[in-house]
Amino acid sequence: MYPADLPPYARLYCHLLQPVFERLRGKITPRVEKTISRTQWLGPEALQDMQWRELAVLLAWAVDRVDFYRQWFADNRLTVEQVVAQRDLSLLPLVDKQTITAQPSRFLADPLPAGSYPKTTGGTLGQPLSFMLNPESDHWRQAVSRRGYAWAGVAPGRRQLHVWSSDLIPLPRAAQFKRAVHRMLLRQHYVSYYRMLSPQDTDRALRRIDRLRPDNLVIYPSAAEVLCTRARQTGWRPRRPLVSVLTGAETLFDHQREMIQEVFGCPVFETYGSREFMLMAAECPAHQGMHVSAENLMMEILADGRPAEPGELGEVVVTDLHNFAQPFIRYRVGDTSAWLDQGPCACGRSLPRITKVEGKVVDMIVTPDGRRLTGHFFPHLLKDFPAVERYQIEQDREDHIIIRLKLRHDLADEDSRLILDKFRQTLPGVEPEIEVVDEVKIAPTGKVRITIGLDNQHGMTGPDIAGPGDAGQGEA
Ligand SMILES: [Zn+2]
Repeated sequence: MYPADLPPYARLYCHLLQPVFERLRGKITPRVEKTISRTQWLGPEALQDMQWRELAVLLAWAVDRVDFYRQWFADNRLTVEQVVAQRDLSLLPLVDKQTITAQPSRFLADPLPAGSYPKTTGGTLGQPLSFMLNPESDHWRQAVSRRGYAWAGVAPGRRQLHVWSSDLIPLPRAAQFKRAVHRMLLRQHYVSYYRMLSPQDTDRALRRIDRLRPDNLVIYPSAAEVLCTRARQTGWRPRRPLVSVLTGAETLFDHQREMIQEVFGCPVFETYGSREFMLMAAECPAHQGMHVSAENLMMEILADGRPAEPGELGEVVVTDLHNFAQPFIRYRVGDTSAWLDQGPCACGRSLPRITKVEGKVVDMIVTPDGRRLTGHFFPHLLKDFPAVERYQIEQDREDHIIIRLKLRHDLADEDSRLILDKFRQTLPGVEPEIEVVDEVKIAPTGKVRITIGLDNQHGMTGPDIAGPGDAGQGEA
């Protein structure tokens, strides 16, 4: 599964240390890695057989343990066997964030699998979601993410710099220490995109690359664009060409890919992920679309409710095959994509391929002194406040920003103070104001704008934000 040309330490880490650590901790990740390093070469029929076998197990579990599905199958007089025999996902209901947040307990397994734990997503739809995950599902996610990253030459133990989101609410000291040790073993280094606001900050990030000489850069496309623009202005080039740049959390535009290739002198690999499912698709060395993590999830693309033709844009719907704590079955992710319409991939893998993902619009916020903050900051901040049902951030003046919140219940004074403090710290010179609303504005296109900047020219689109532990190699 891992690249053959890894440096010695990375080889040792991937092939010996990591599987030993994980087996000792009872993780199934090493076994899953072994499986998917083989199944990525299966033909399309064999892959589908595998998916339907796994789905049959999940559906039977859902009918047995999950109230929503028990009721739905009873109401519709259907059995799991009938659905599986017909191999027709469209027999099952679609769900989305709203359906689930309206009655969260009905979507949870009762009792939950041992060791299940909650996760939250900020969601660039401007609507946070909290969900449960069983440990084995997390192990699957880790394994498919590592495989997708490995296609780009990124492997645990290979020196890599991540320009990514950072903690907004500091972790407890023990957790910080544990993570620092783990990152050291993985040879992962971090620069916070949220602190890359001014040209000086960007220069600092470039100097970090000079000092570190990483093999890989893992970065938001918009952050890479900021780095590359500055590099072009100042004539900066890496002291040593990188092996690869891997992008995530936003759509990678062609001009960004060209810039990155030119400045960093290496190939660029796009990934598509979300907090709900981690890595959903990743680009292989053939650079023709992104291969879906088909052993861990079934992806549908629906145009007007029916399966889209190859090349036809439609909405992305995902069934997670291994989350038994909270089964996501035909979940509308909120992004748009299309199947690639060109037979088997040059790399030899039959894992289905999608083209560019069109997500939601996220604008940059500017400060009076010319610094720019990515709109991805806000979902990351607001996901930790359960009272917030939906949100939208609008910068109406250079020195003023409105935080529109649709609330589930009252926001504690302490929480609103915390939100305002975070805004003030991150955006000096811009005064934040919380406005509680009944509903947030939907753009004429039907898309939710989670940030409305002063300068919409620089709007970015992207799928749901995923933290480094979500789209990439997570914590051990
Ligand atoms: Zn391929």
